[in-house]
Amino acid sequence: PRSMGLASAAERVAAEFEYSKEDVNRGVQAFIEQMDEGLGKVGATMSQIPTYVTAVPNGTEKGLYMAVDLGGTNFRVCSIQLHGNSTFSLTQSKVAIPKDLMVAKTSHELFSFLAKQIELFLKTHHGEHYQSHTERKASMIGLGGYKDEEIFSLGFTFSFPVQQYGINKGTLIRWTKGFDIHDTVGKDVCALLQKEIDALSLPVRVAALVNDTVGTLMARSYTSPGKTGTLLGAIFGTGTNGAYVEKLGKVTKLKNMGKEAGEIDESTGEMIVNTEWGSFDNHMSVLPDTPYDKDLDRESVNPGIQMFEKRVSGMFLGEILRRAIIALVNDPSVPLFSDEDSSRNDVHSTTIIHPSSPLYQQWGLDTSFLSITSGDSSSGLKVTRQTLDVDYGVSAASAEDAEAVRLIAAAVGKRAARLSAVAIAAVVISTDSLARTGDDVDIGVDGSLVEFYPNFEDYIREALRDIPQIGPQGEKRIRIGIAKDGSGVGAALIALVADKAM
Ligand code: ADP
Repeated sequence: PRSMGLASAAERVAAEFEYSKEDVNRGVQAFIEQMDEGLGKVGATMSQIPTYVTAVPNGTEKGLYMAVDLGGTNFRVCSIQLHGNSTFSLTQSKVAIPKDLMVAKTSHELFSFLAKQIELFLKTHHGEHYQSHTERKASMIGLGGYKDEEIFSLGFTFSFPVQQYGINKGTLIRWTKGFDIHDTVGKDVCALLQKEIDALSLPVRVAALVNDTVGTLMARSYTSPGKTGTLLGAIFGTGTNGAYVEKLGKVTKLKNMGKEAGEIDESTGEMIVNTEWGSFDNHMSVLPDTPYDKDLDRESVNPGIQMFEKRVSGMFLGEILRRAIIALVNDPSVPLFSDEDSSRNDVHSTTIIHPSSPLYQQWGLDTSFLSITSGDSSSGLKVTRQTLDVDYGVSAASAEDAEAVRLIAAAVGKRAARLSAVAIAAVVISTDSLARTGDDVDIGVDGSLVEFYPNFEDYIREALRDIPQIGPQGEKRIRIGIAKDGSGVGAALIALVADKAM
């Protein structure tokens, strides 16, 4: 019967995504090696970027800070009151970035727009500060006349590739995500923002340039209940990346980066390192590589790059699943999405996929579908079948069809989670975190995948137990918690740390 053939075909595809205990352990080994390589030299597979952030918060930090976030589509401005007891209040505004500014002729056009949004935010939410400013301006005192305590320190989350030179110094390497302003490339983005803020004589100092993973780590460390600070901040959203607390002495490449020793606060003996682990194993020594992975990479805009991310993150999991599904649809011996009536005397049965289905289009399947089908507990997988119908142009999918799709989706998701465990374990092991303290090891995570994919954390934990250096005992001592508002409170905390280091 057709359902038997379909089920075994689906099992065969799902098996291609198996990532065994041995695979996990080989992955961890290679991950640690590539972390070490990145700490030693610029231009390694994993960038291991020093962030110049040398302390993590413990929840007692206090004060009023500002943060701005230039991500892709929106610019967010917020102020954060840290209460000093692991809690905070956040006020924020959000504005879409006008398309013409993304491709403006000069940096001035974009950055003056950003400064104006900061001014508007101050006017609206911090009138007292703003008022005193205008009065000062009227009395010709200007920004120089502000007392230190009147000036907001601001953390600037800037989610584009930068070469960072100090806690509030970093030059743009290249624009991504549809931005293209030639004039900005190679310039210090903090200085560009500060210049426009000063032109409006706002009481704001750009104190820190913030990467979103570092923000996640800081936000989690402030809010986490433990005695010891957070070890790792990790993002599993559109992309994946992690930042962790490293011993300063192990960041050996700092010596060769032309740093004046004075610019680094060495008092804690630690520095947060932004791994850029999305590019782990770009040369493919240990990563799994199914035909679907190979095709996805070959037809991507950046073949051979971000190879770990292409197996782990939200931008890609849907596309991997889509390719696996279409391979079965195109296999005449497998009755997936086939119309039973018209297949009676025909070798090539008719499919019930609409020709214009997104399943036939690159990037047509969203990763949220993996969550929907994995979380589907309806009878006969009704929810999955409805989603296939409404969102993906597959009319009247059978329960067997849905079961086959679900099986493969689970395999893709599980492999992603086990690969995520490789990254987490490598950081825990290479920093010797389980042995160093008797406390739990704390990890802050963010992103839709880890937040919404059912069982993502369970799958991660299962893999962690498969690693001898961690095992069931160690796994119990690893605490994983969602860190919300990393680009708000996290950036504020980095501004605070930057102030202290001044
Ligand atoms: P970003 O990483 O861009 O800040 P998110 O953390 O929301 O934003 O991640 C967006 C990514 O997560 C997209 O690739 C999207 O396909 C995927 N995604 C959105 N919703 C879900 C979901 N419910 N389950 C799994 N992945 C999801």
